[in-house]
Amino acid sequence: MTERPYYIELANGVTMPQIGFGTWPIPDRKAEQMVAAAIETGYRLIDTAEMYDNEGGVGRGIKAGGVVREDIFVTTKLSQRSHGRREAQLAFAGSASRLGLDYIDLYLIHWPNPDLDRYVDAWRGMIDLLEQGKVRAIGVSNFKPAHLERLIDETGVAPHVNQIQLNPWIPRLKERAYHEAHDIVTESWAPIGKGGGLLDDPVIARLAKRRGRTPAQIAIRWHLQLGLVPIPKTDHPDRLAENLDVFGFTLTEEETELLAGLDRGGQGAVDSDHTGL
Ligand code: NAP
Repeated sequence: MTERPYYIELANGVTMPQIGFGTWPIPDRKAEQMVAAAIETGYRLIDTAEMYDNEGGVGRGIKAGGVVREDIFVTTKLSQRSHGRREAQLAFAGSASRLGLDYIDLYLIHWPNPDLDRYVDAWRGMIDLLEQGKVRAIGVSNFKPAHLERLIDETGVAPHVNQIQLNPWIPRLKERAYHEAHDIVTESWAPIGKGGGLLDDPVIARLAKRRGRTPAQIAIRWHLQLGLVPIPKTDHPDRLAENLDVFGFTLTEEETELLAGLDRGGQGAVDSDHTGL
């Protein structure tokens, strides 16, 4: 039996599970089964996006998971074509309808797309949705401190969450410091490095062997101890349980220092001034 995930408090008092299930790139036809399995395993935070083309399946999975709606924390994201105040209303309505939900727990602007220069307008739309009670919390994704600074300067409202690419190879120290100073929760995408070489890193492998844990569990535990919210994705039910079974051990200070030494200085980090869906 997996322990109940930890919860973290957002600046507006809403509580959010500190670990979630990522659903990209799970196709719509498989999303129902995987999301239901994730909920049955104990996940309470489900992450999707309009761009993932799976909100329908995710919504069916949430219903099939058999847990009351209030106990599930659903995140979805606004796409670049909806960067605008009125457009945000329509985008929300579309996502909510595909998910089969009348409110969304956390709504994020997916990418800043600074070339469009419309993310501040989109942010005004997010603030409207929050004030209308259609979403419980609002945030952004892939925003750099300079983008966040503009949102705060021009609207006076800071995001509750910024979801960014983050793992021991890409620890995003500057971004995390900015978030902490502005009471923004940092959510980590690619928390286990997309399952690639990070899990074969000799330091992670050594710690896993020493602690009798898997490399993925060592990486996920690192996020939790830093106060981050990891959202690992898997297509495998056994890995769903493995990735959530991270509450029964604590990394020592020496171990977290070893993991801090894995910073690759920005190598492999997505630059959202030049990338964006
Ligand atoms: P990730 O969660 O770091 O890695 C997923 C990969 O790891 C998959 O290939 C998976 O393979 C493998 N994996 C999962 N558990 C494992 C385990 N215990 N041992 C070994 N391999 C394991 O990367 P991600 O999927 O890119 O990111 C997670 C979520 O973040 C996404 O699903 C999505 O919801 C979100 N995301 C957001 C953005 C954004 O722009 N905001 C961008 C990318 C992702 P199997 O499926 O075969 O198990």
